Amino acid sequence: MPKHIFVTGGVVSSLGKGIASASIAKILEAKGLKVALQKLDPYLNVDPGTMNPYQHGEVYVTDDGAETDLDLGHYERFTHGTLGRENNVTSGQIYYSVIAKERRGDYLGGTVQVVPHITNAIKERIREVSRNKRYDVVISEVGGTAGDIESLPFLEAARQFRHEVGRENSLFIHLTLVPYIKAAGELKTKPTQHSVGTLREIGIQPDILICRTEKKIDQAMKDKIALFCNVESEAVIEARDVASIYECPLAFKAEGIDKVICQKLKIEYKSGSLQHWKKNVVDKALHPKQWVKIALVGKYIELQDAYKSVCESLKHGGIANDTGVVIKRINSEKLESARAMGQLQGVSGILVPGGFGTRGIEGKLNAIRFARERQVPFFGICLGMQCAVIEFARNALDMKGAHSTEFNKKTPFPVISLLEEQQNVKDMGGTMRLGAFPCQVKKDTLAHKAYKADEISERHRHRYEFNNEYREKFQKAGMKLSGISPSGKLVEIIELEDHPWFLAVQFHPEFKSKPDRAHPLFQEFIRHALFYQEAHGAGIPAPAIPEVLAEQAPPRENGEAHA
Ligand code: GLN
Repeated sequence: MPKHIFVTGGVVSSLGKGIASASIAKILEAKGLKVALQKLDPYLNVDPGTMNPYQHGEVYVTDDGAETDLDLGHYERFTHGTLGRENNVTSGQIYYSVIAKERRGDYLGGTVQVVPHITNAIKERIREVSRNKRYDVVISEVGGTAGDIESLPFLEAARQFRHEVGRENSLFIHLTLVPYIKAAGELKTKPTQHSVGTLREIGIQPDILICRTEKKIDQAMKDKIALFCNVESEAVIEARDVASIYECPLAFKAEGIDKVICQKLKIEYKSGSLQHWKKNVVDKALHPKQWVKIALVGKYIELQDAYKSVCESLKHGGIANDTGVVIKRINSEKLESARAMGQLQGVSGILVPGGFGTRGIEGKLNAIRFARERQVPFFGICLGMQCAVIEFARNALDMKGAHSTEFNKKTPFPVISLLEEQQNVKDMGGTMRLGAFPCQVKKDTLAHKAYKADEISERHRHRYEFNNEYREKFQKAGMKLSGISPSGKLVEIIELEDHPWFLAVQFHPEFKSKPDRAHPLFQEFIRHALFYQEAHGAGIPAPAIPEVLAEQAPPRENGEAHA
């Protein structure tokens, strides 16, 4: 049976529970332990698939096609694990299953209640993670903040779980805030005490406290927190703000969190080196040899989390090239006039990410035209590829009014459309192409040069496709279809002949990039952006507060930032 760690949060949201959970998993993996991560989300949506990115941030897609919370992205980036449907549990799923059972009559006329029926269903899902796979440790992160009405059933389930498996087999880690009050010139422990008090009221005594702070927490303060929160001093872990999220595992380990975990869970302590991570990820992220500026042209750019995986992948591509990436976020709605195009001056690469809906499309097309005509490296992802096809049709093939039928059903040139078999499906749910699919990569293409493989597997999340009726026309005009599905039916990668690096993909490569193993397409994109920068300017000096680092604020909790 695996050991179970529950990670909860208190005081405020956005403390970075996801990154803390992923960091703990990373430290334990380095000891040779097999670790699984799971997110328990209190909201009532069944999954975030239908949520607005403004509400939820990015929807992270797993190999098995689950639409999940973006914390699963952190989990996969920090660890070796490949996650799936079972790793993200929502209240919506739990209630859905319990109510379905009730309708079937499975409860034999009994009253169906939050305790025990909902809590039992939650415990079932916690166990399910390790049902068919062997793990040494399962980490379950409970979304929300201690004291929320919504997360109560999850906390109650976790409390019961510990009671059932015993103290040696389970552990509670609570993440809190120790704020610095400028006027007093002091760190304050009271919010932490209150938050632990709230947990105790529901029967949970945390074993370890991770204290987010701007300033150093000295031993005296640790002793004070320990005394008032009823934990050992060694179990008070300082989590001071770091410049790169990838430093967190190193910082936690330096605080000795793994010693406390091993001692409490009776796991034999092995040090486990994070040297590889330090050398190949952290040092490179913090001390790049050079900088490059990339434009990210999307419509949700005000929201930090909407393009989380894309931004992380750009950084990974930078790390692989010893380069810091400054991401210039450009609102595509503000790129609709010729004058506005000045915003693209001085960038060495342009990326158009995925998206839904017509808002901001024309600005994306303008950005793509700019990249194509001025030979600026371009990387299109999902909707970004569809826009590249539309732009090429309109401006290189003179197909006036060419569009995707997602945005204009009556376009004279539906270059992006639904496949015939999809045309009559009306229901929005369940009609998307989701999850990992294979793709064959043509030799002698930019794509093949990057992947160095004939067949790849990438994750998808879209409905519309390149319209095959136009294949020949596009190819004759210089667009290569460099990646095709094994059936030959679906265009997966396109690129241009007369351009140093113009490549776009129908899938989402950003879900498979890791800091120490950058996705090959991101790596190549940054490499070519550096060539462009070298040819067109002296390169940009290192920013005083590198945007790339400033952006790495921890993710907020679902929905809470809007309260
Ligand atoms: N809206 C487009 C589609 O459904 C692209 C989706 C995306 O970019 N993820 O096909």
